[in-house]
Amino acid sequence: MGKLAKWLRIMGYDTLFFNSSDDSRMIATALAEGRVMLTKDAQIIKRRVVTSGRLKAVLIKGDEPEQQMHQVIDTLKLDCQFRPFTLCLECNQPLLERSKQQVKDLVPHYVFQTQSQYMECPACHRIYWRGTHWQAMTKKLEKFIKG
Ligand SMILES: [Zn+2]
Repeated sequence: MGKLAKWLRIMGYDTLFFNSSDDSRMIATALAEGRVMLTKDAQIIKRRVVTSGRLKAVLIKGDEPEQQMHQVIDTLKLDCQFRPFTLCLECNQPLLERSKQQVKDLVPHYVFQTQSQYMECPACHRIYWRGTHWQAMTKKLEKFIKG
């Protein structure tokens, strides 16, 4: 589920991740913030808050992240090109655009030489750029779109 959360963030969907011991906190947060709950726990789906329709929840079936992604995209009609690469993959914070000069001392020299677009997470200050990792993820996203 951690990988699934990361993929949803790559697509730009605001996603929180809870450990399985945090059930009540997860439900309270989902209700308070109007979130859809994704869970592998069939017991949670049977709770009154879900069966009554107060909380929208999806029972995730597969164990493979790709399988889970397909289920979530199909069920919630998600758009793979929603806002790709706009959230920090670690903190779920919206990334801020940074100029080349602003990141000069923050990224490896070879990156600075070859990349022109940068983003920074306001929380963890991680710098993102459109490197090979980014390109690999874009390819994978396109694969999801085609199905
Ligand atoms: Zn961050």
